Amino acid sequence: MHRLLLPLILAIGTGNSPAEQPFIEYQPGTLPLVLAAPHGGTLKPVDLPNRNFGRVAQDTNTAEIVLALAATLEAKTGQRPHVILCRLHRTKVDCNREIKEAAQGDPAAEAAWHEFHDACATACEAVTQLRGCGLFLDVHGHRHEEPRVELGYLLTANQLAMSNTALDQETTAIEQSSIRELVARSGRNLSALMYGPNSLGSLLEARSILCVPSPTKPAPTPGADYFSGAYDIQAHGSRDGGTVSAIQVECPWKGVRDTADNQRAFVAAMAESLLQYFPAVFKMPLATQKRQK
Ligand SMILES: [Zn+2]
Repeated sequence: MHRLLLPLILAIGTGNSPAEQPFIEYQPGTLPLVLAAPHGGTLKPVDLPNRNFGRVAQDTNTAEIVLALAATLEAKTGQRPHVILCRLHRTKVDCNREIKEAAQGDPAAEAAWHEFHDACATACEAVTQLRGCGLFLDVHGHRHEEPRVELGYLLTANQLAMSNTALDQETTAIEQSSIRELVARSGRNLSALMYGPNSLGSLLEARSILCVPSPTKPAPTPGADYFSGAYDIQAHGSRDGGTVSAIQVECPWKGVRDTADNQRAFVAAMAESLLQYFPAVFKMPLATQKRQK
């Protein structure tokens, strides 16, 4: 327990020499927040075979966004979130898929996959022990036509398109959501958590970052591409138990990931939003130390 309070930065390598950059990087923190970037890696070691099927596009600048968000939160609170980065390029491993599609039978890719998910599990356990509950954000990048941040809660576009009354009455929607435990904890309806006041989409939009779902756009445009979330938030959110809820955060290229200024604006908006989201929804402040600037 006390070890977690130290400003330790662990970088654990898998299958590569100590002089090289580790495949998986885990920086433990003390905030009840876990930030992961499974697709931001650039390493393409020649001794690791390329994957033969599945998506292989890198989510450019997502590792940078996660590290900047961690630094911004530390500057504001004096505490850091847990950070987990896959430094391998997605042609080598896809940590946001089950192991068969992720590693395609290669032992080194499988070891990296396990290391990524063990780090996520360790971080979520530490969050639960220290604060009782928390949030896991899986940060990605998309290039869909509409440049909104797509927030994935494991609900389909069709479910989000239902009326708020119908959505709130559909108990299966709550049960399949990656923020399942947060519905009970917050005392709010599922629709309110998706696009009501103090939903993550509403807090980001108040800071000029357009999102879906959000008050201005509760559901994706019918037929448009939308990422509702995948393996990481299924495995590490509260759908199947626990008190850590999870959201997949898909950042568009245009307006968020494309320039250093846009990355800074998004990171500032997300940091401010999270400081408001925790007391509103988790019923506790994000940080236990008071050092907000
Ligand atoms: Zn991705």
